[in-house]
Amino acid sequence: MFIEPRVITGSGIARRGWIEVVCGSMFSGKTEELIRRLNRAKIARQRVEIFKPALDTRYHAEDVVSHNQNSIRSTPVPVAQEMLLLAAGCDVIGVDEAQFFDESLVEVCVQLANRGTRVIVAGLDMDFQGQPFGPMPALMAVAEFVTKVHAICVCCGELATYSFRVTASEDKILLGETDAYEARCRVCFQEGMKEKHPESTAEKVART
Ligand SMILES: [Zn+2]
Repeated sequence: MFIEPRVITGSGIARRGWIEVVCGSMFSGKTEELIRRLNRAKIARQRVEIFKPALDTRYHAEDVVSHNQNSIRSTPVPVAQEMLLLAAGCDVIGVDEAQFFDESLVEVCVQLANRGTRVIVAGLDMDFQGQPFGPMPALMAVAEFVTKVHAICVCCGELATYSFRVTASEDKILLGETDAYEARCRVCFQEGMKEKHPESTAEKVART
């Protein structure tokens, strides 16, 4: 379990910010972990604000809602830069579904941390094809703390790090479709991808 280096910044010393990343597959409890950290900051009377990309319209427009209904109010923003203004006066900001922002999120998080804000970013580290997702890899590089949380593979019960898409759609973003995904381990993810794309996998194997 992640224990904060400190919850309250700047008692006596200059206010310090930093970046935390919570990443993992679908059903890994990323949002629950984000909410846990933000609730602890709230108990410490920190000013907390949560943002998410405006395109994530699952459940309620203004709540970060995790799959276990443990929710915190949040502000949808169309672009990451808006957070720079909206986060003024905040001690801690949370960003949920960070993978859906573009690369400018990285610079925004760095600027917020540089001006003394604790920034906690949660998002999918890989897309449904097992590729690094949006700004997440760069965020992990600039973060002080990275936590990878795991789901459980629905096929074999091992730890799962992949989000396997059950449907045939090839769109990178399928919103509000949690039924369309399964958490899978490396082996079961590969088996699923082979079943979905028998030819392309055969070609890859032939090349190696
Ligand atoms: Zn498995």
